[in-house]
Amino acid sequence: MDTNTLDTRTLDAAIDKLPRYRVGFYPTPFHQLRNLSRTFGINLYMKREDMAGPSAISGSKTRLAEFILGRALEAGVTHLITQGAYLTNSGLQFAAASRSAGITPVLVLTRNVARHGKLGESRGNYLLTQTMGVETHVIDANGDIWTDAAAAATVDSTIARRKAELESEGHTVMVVGAGGAHPDGFIAHAQTFREMLLQSADAGMELDFIYHTIGTGTALPGMLAAKLSLGHPVKFRSIAIDAYDEDGWINSSIIVERTKAVLETLGSPVPDDATIRGELDIDRRFIGEEYAAPSPESTAAIRELARAEGVFVGPVYTGKGFAGLLDHARTGRIPAGSNVAFLHTGDTGNLFEIPEVVGTIAE
Ligand SMILES: *Cc1c(COP(=O)(O)O)cnc(C)c1O
Repeated sequence: MDTNTLDTRTLDAAIDKLPRYRVGFYPTPFHQLRNLSRTFGINLYMKREDMAGPSAISGSKTRLAEFILGRALEAGVTHLITQGAYLTNSGLQFAAASRSAGITPVLVLTRNVARHGKLGESRGNYLLTQTMGVETHVIDANGDIWTDAAAAATVDSTIARRKAELESEGHTVMVVGAGGAHPDGFIAHAQTFREMLLQSADAGMELDFIYHTIGTGTALPGMLAAKLSLGHPVKFRSIAIDAYDEDGWINSSIIVERTKAVLETLGSPVPDDATIRGELDIDRRFIGEEYAAPSPESTAAIRELARAEGVFVGPVYTGKGFAGLLDHARTGRIPAGSNVAFLHTGDTGNLFEIPEVVGTIAE
């Protein structure tokens, strides 16, 4: 055995010993997209984190929530505060998992009023969080939270104020960052990677590429750490929905740090930063105008997948990610005959959002 890698049993044991509140349906399904495989001359599969539960609308944040809530329950947490855009997928999944765990969720959300107008009726993910009766604070922003510093400051002060109020009433509060970013959660998608290894072996093949949509940087570190720790040759291709500038709020240095932290938790040797950085392949050509604005490529990708396979991706994240995959398949960036998986991270609730989010897909 290569001494620079773990065996799968050691990796599984390192994950299994962590506290975990089980609320999702794992392993999530993994299946072939037969018609698109034929069209592009590749073997294309989909890993269905969008079906992780517990509700019909789910995604990659439910798995993070299992590990984060596992620790939260041990620590006697009573309230979980998290933040995001008003159409947040992460907020919905954390709210659902928290409700199940008997922890009270609080959402602090921003709305890009310049693009989406004032909040009118409840739709999409927001409808679902309101149906769960979640305490929600919506803060008007001009642009998104990453470009409107005043809105970002209001988010921070609102979280700090609610945390202090709840604590003064004797509650124990946990704060989880945008997208479910929290040190206890990044290991979750090491398990997703393990499931895909087993499922691709069952399908009689070894994966060459894993495509996914990257935003807040919560899924890649765990998957990449598992790949590195096992010495698996698969390449990740990440399609960005925000900029990933080196001085931006999310960037590849953060991914490297999170990956190292997961490797340490796994008890795996940690390669140098340059080796980890060399694994990153982030394509930023599919962001479109900005976050949560439909792009023609994304709209076309949602339609193409739906019409070929009867499967739906969403307009804010996974449509853009799938648009990147289709482009790479068409332009030969995915060699013929490759075994490819697309990690479906969710976002289908946003198909039921306002037209300024969804675009015109149903024509
Ligand atoms: C959060 C999210 C992403 C981005 O995921 P990260 O792993 O945090 O970069 C992609 N797709 C969907 C549907 C999401 O909710």
